[in-house]
Amino acid sequence: NKKHNLLEKVYQTNDLTKEEITDLLETITSEDREILYSNALKTKQTYYGNKVYLRGLIEFSNICRQDCLYCGIRASNAKVERYRLTPGEILACCDKGYELGYRTFVLQSGEDLWYTEELLGALIHEIKRRYYPEVAVTLSIGERRAETYQSLFASGADRFLMRHETASKKLYETLHPTMRFEDRRACLNALKEIGYQVGAGFMVGLPGQTLADLAEDLCYLKELHPDMIGIGPFIPHSETPLGAEKGGTIEDTLVMVALARLLIPDSLIPATTALGTLHPQGREMALKAGANVVMPIITPTSVRKQYALYENKICGDDHPEDCRYCIERRIQSVGFEVDLGRGDSQQFISWG
Ligand code: SAM
Repeated sequence: NKKHNLLEKVYQTNDLTKEEITDLLETITSEDREILYSNALKTKQTYYGNKVYLRGLIEFSNICRQDCLYCGIRASNAKVERYRLTPGEILACCDKGYELGYRTFVLQSGEDLWYTEELLGALIHEIKRRYYPEVAVTLSIGERRAETYQSLFASGADRFLMRHETASKKLYETLHPTMRFEDRRACLNALKEIGYQVGAGFMVGLPGQTLADLAEDLCYLKELHPDMIGIGPFIPHSETPLGAEKGGTIEDTLVMVALARLLIPDSLIPATTALGTLHPQGREMALKAGANVVMPIITPTSVRKQYALYENKICGDDHPEDCRYCIERRIQSVGFEVDLGRGDSQQFISWG
């Protein structure tokens, strides 16, 4: 039948039209999902084997000038206790992370201009100097001028994560009163052009998001062909305008992870912390549906709970070493192995 043809087509050709994806999403059954997950897993194994890459995540500031309707650290949320880690504190997190075996550090924050181009450049330079050539530096700091991206790349940053959040212009504009749809895309294009390994991605289950919107997210990703793809459920935060909305489901998110693997087979796809928050085994389920990266938190325990993008975020009381070994056990529990290398994407390796 038609649906089985679609499942087979995406597995064999890594391609579907937007209409075909929408069709599949509209009629998908639990049996189809299992087929999709298992095909996505086989595709992941073809490109990356049984390896799962670890990234040490440092959430270095929760101060943000933007006001995204869904986000717990949005500028208008007066109830968050704000923090900034100093460059020295961030370097101490890197030392800790290096000792735990991480060879990628992800520096993530709200859009906080206190960290100037000069300060970030010096910080990246020092990280690269300390651990050269073993460590990759990934930035996730939101929108800046293309010149700043260029200068941070010259300082040694290797990768940049910036989710497109949603490929629907209308929905994007509703959710981001302080931002423009075109700017986000221009940033992603600039980052790619400069030579970063780029991560894009989106949330699943946003209020007002349709199945056609989700199909468009996947088509946009296929066209952009980023190195990394972050997909997580939207989880409401009570101190935001979307606090009373329903969040995304684990099943819907896993289907999108599996389709992303099948449509962009050489990408790196994290099993997100948000999935681990929705279900105790959410990240393991994502690994079995095509994900191949996990990002354990190395943010100091003293400020972790203040980086609450959504409610009930996991690991708030844990220490960096707890997360390191908890994640390793989880990865092994579903039959995969931890790879502590830099974990560059296959696209990056083959195009160099
Ligand atoms: N400020 C940077 C940026 O915009 O790229 C990086 C930090 S931002 C907080 C990281 C990601 O958190 C966003 O791209 C968004 O997808 C996700 N996020 C924020 N609020 C969320 C929520 N309520 N539920 C799920 N994910 C959320």
